[in-house]
Amino acid sequence: MTTPSGRRPYNFSAGPAAMPEAVLQRAAAEMLDWQGSGMSVMEMSHRGKEFGAICAQAEADFRALLAVPEHFHILFMQGGGLGENAIVPMNLSRGNKADFVITGSWSAKSQKEAQRYCQSNIAASNADNQHTQIPAPSTWQVSDDASYVHLCSNETIHGVEFQALPDLAALGSKAPLVIDFSSHVASRPVDWTRVGLAFGGAQKNLGPAGLTLVIVRDDLLGHALDICPSAFNYRIVADNKSMYNTPPTWGIYIAGLTFQWLRQQTEGALTGVAAMEQRNAAKARLLYDFIDASPFYENRVAHDCRSRMNVPFFLKNESRNEAFLAGAREAGLLQLKGHKSVGGMRASIYNAMPFEGVQALVDYMREFERSHA
Ligand SMILES: *Cc1c(COP(=O)(O)O)cnc(C)c1O
Repeated sequence: MTTPSGRRPYNFSAGPAAMPEAVLQRAAAEMLDWQGSGMSVMEMSHRGKEFGAICAQAEADFRALLAVPEHFHILFMQGGGLGENAIVPMNLSRGNKADFVITGSWSAKSQKEAQRYCQSNIAASNADNQHTQIPAPSTWQVSDDASYVHLCSNETIHGVEFQALPDLAALGSKAPLVIDFSSHVASRPVDWTRVGLAFGGAQKNLGPAGLTLVIVRDDLLGHALDICPSAFNYRIVADNKSMYNTPPTWGIYIAGLTFQWLRQQTEGALTGVAAMEQRNAAKARLLYDFIDASPFYENRVAHDCRSRMNVPFFLKNESRNEAFLAGAREAGLLQLKGHKSVGGMRASIYNAMPFEGVQALVDYMREFERSHA
């Protein structure tokens, strides 16, 4: 499918999501014969020198891209974000207690799953305002004896994003912070001085489904519960350089190409993640400013925690939803329907979405409003 202008459609899916076109083209060119090896990456032994080089390069590029300090391990795993909801407490909780900050569906799921492995305390929740605000860290009820504090740094469904990570020490907590950064990884820098562990599925912002990234501080390894499967024990995965069992080789390769693409991006004098952050902020501003100025559309999230990646919005007259989506599809603007738990629309504008894609969406929304108001 191409649009009347001949370009590929702009895809606003929340995940699996749009990929940089340059990455898809490179993968297509290398599909049958990776760099003269005579093999597709899918056909290589994960223990061979070719894939070893791909994996080491991907890890080095991710470390450089997000300035991951040397005392953090970068693990390539499987099981997705929901898998990590069990794998994190099995590795970090020591069967004791963990604190959870609930800011939307994903953190709520994390808290419930952890209950199977440890006591999972709700330190704060925004459920009473329909997940539209982030409770001020000074109001969080953190425990003295928590093994870790969990939060979701970007709530994909509700469109709520932490603009800065909390300083747990300032709240009187000695626990490491765990962040689920599935849906905004590599869209902005990470302050690693405030993080003990970060995890994310690749399928929102980095690559295909099937790869899970875990970035974990050295001192947090080695405390897994006995029931933890060996393949999900961070110590074992780290000691085996993510090759204890067969890693998701294709996902690592594609994510690696994405890391290279990200490192090459520029905005003025900025490069890499700094450039992406500037571009993402400009994309989000364009869309939110348009929605806020329109009497026809609305976004209900508090201004100081609106996500740059996932923008849920509503037509004030919801009887026009179907017409809006059908017209968008005609215009080459795909997968704008909101999550079923929230309703309305959602535009996911991850790293791979160019500024022009958001401009095309705003142009369409303006025209739809003009012809239907
Ligand atoms: C998509 C998503 C998940 C779920 O990931 P799976 O790979 O489906 O397990 C978890 N957390 C966040 C923030 C997400 O956006």
